[in-house]
Amino acid sequence: MRNTEHKIKEIIPGSIAEELELEAGDTLVSVNGQEIEDVFDYHYYMNDELVTVLVRKPDGEEWELEIEKEYEEDLGIVFESSLMDEYRSCRNKCIFCFIDQMPKGMRETLYFKDDDSRLSFLQGNYVTLTNMSDHDIDRIIRYHLGPINISFHTMNPQLRCRMLNNRFAGDIFPKVERLAAAGIEMNGQIVLCKGVNDGEELEYSLEQLTQYLPALRSVSVVPVGLTKFREGLYPLEPFDQEDAKGVIDCIERWQKKIYDRYRLHFVHASDEWYLLAGRSLPEAERYDGYLQLENGVGMLRLLHEETMEALAERAEDAGQGSDGGRVREISLATGMLAAPYLRLLYEEIRKEYPQVRLHIYEIENRFFGERITVSGLLTGQDLIAQLEGRALGEELLLPVNMLRSREEVFLDDITVKELESALQIKVRIVESSGYDFVEAVTGVPLPRKKEEFDE
Ligand code: SF4
Repeated sequence: MRNTEHKIKEIIPGSIAEELELEAGDTLVSVNGQEIEDVFDYHYYMNDELVTVLVRKPDGEEWELEIEKEYEEDLGIVFESSLMDEYRSCRNKCIFCFIDQMPKGMRETLYFKDDDSRLSFLQGNYVTLTNMSDHDIDRIIRYHLGPINISFHTMNPQLRCRMLNNRFAGDIFPKVERLAAAGIEMNGQIVLCKGVNDGEELEYSLEQLTQYLPALRSVSVVPVGLTKFREGLYPLEPFDQEDAKGVIDCIERWQKKIYDRYRLHFVHASDEWYLLAGRSLPEAERYDGYLQLENGVGMLRLLHEETMEALAERAEDAGQGSDGGRVREISLATGMLAAPYLRLLYEEIRKEYPQVRLHIYEIENRFFGERITVSGLLTGQDLIAQLEGRALGEELLLPVNMLRSREEVFLDDITVKELESALQIKVRIVESSGYDFVEAVTGVPLPRKKEEFDE
């Protein structure tokens, strides 16, 4: 039996819920007379100007409250579980799963294998659809939720079963067809494994995926991440430069084909492929509005565009450097992958701000192994070990993606404060836009941020 009553954990100060004298410990029983299964139902029924909420107080008394509000206005209730339900774990055992390749002894929550469509809508997680019922699909269609991010990996049903180690993994396509027919926006990803779903299999998958256009707005192809902890796991090999060139050629061929018909490039190689192949990144227009940035698709191109925009906008400050011309010596640590690219951006910044001296340090990932080259998987211990004794200047800049979910803590539980004290340096966490990058490097506050221009 599903639990359809939801304990309130917290009331946001100044919210409608506080005005109504709702309190932590109360229980939400229904909205508009409907039982609430989870956060999908809650948001759907709450999106109204007039709602009736039934709440049970701890002494058993029930309050029926008629509430007038703005259409999408939130009541300000925090529930004990943010999904208003148990998190659904995955039913697969993928041959490339990153969690299986993590060392023992890390924080418990990092080992949780979620595959919950609700997290796809709320946080952009990718889901395999293997544990999604028809009832879930019905609700997504009924509430017209979207976009949903789907891990396809291949369109060959037998191969999908083998890759996900799940004999039902090849059954998802009718579900995708239903979502596409209902116009639910989707994005797809393919984690590419050498000798498994690349080559002809990739060509086949890309061809088949076009049938879901235009509901399926984009498909990213990302290389499998391989750590040094693969003992006993499926033998997977890393891609080399020639492989990367082949993958890019295949994707760019499909982009041209699809663009002619749909005015959409649709399939995208993640940044890693271009860096590995030593090829220049696609121009901004080819990313169709950067639909899969969080998946490392177009991040570096966007960073470049924003950096150049930010520099152009602050042209009148040019040549002043920080503090009216004072030399600003700072450092930045990043993964092996992005470091060369950040150096190019630094050269651009130096043309306008010659007083800035930025030391860029690429940090080898000794924790997970040297094949992991992205900054988002670097740990505090690798940073400390490899930055000790280096020239760090007055501040150390670190990209925000090195921290766990915006907490001040790295993947290995070392905190920013601990790192600061070990290296005796002030750390500045840099948000991901080029505007933030220019601001952090120059030390000169931005006159206006990009978002403000966009508003
Ligand atoms: S779906 Fe596959 S990759 Fe994702 S957590 Fe489950 S086993 Fe790992």
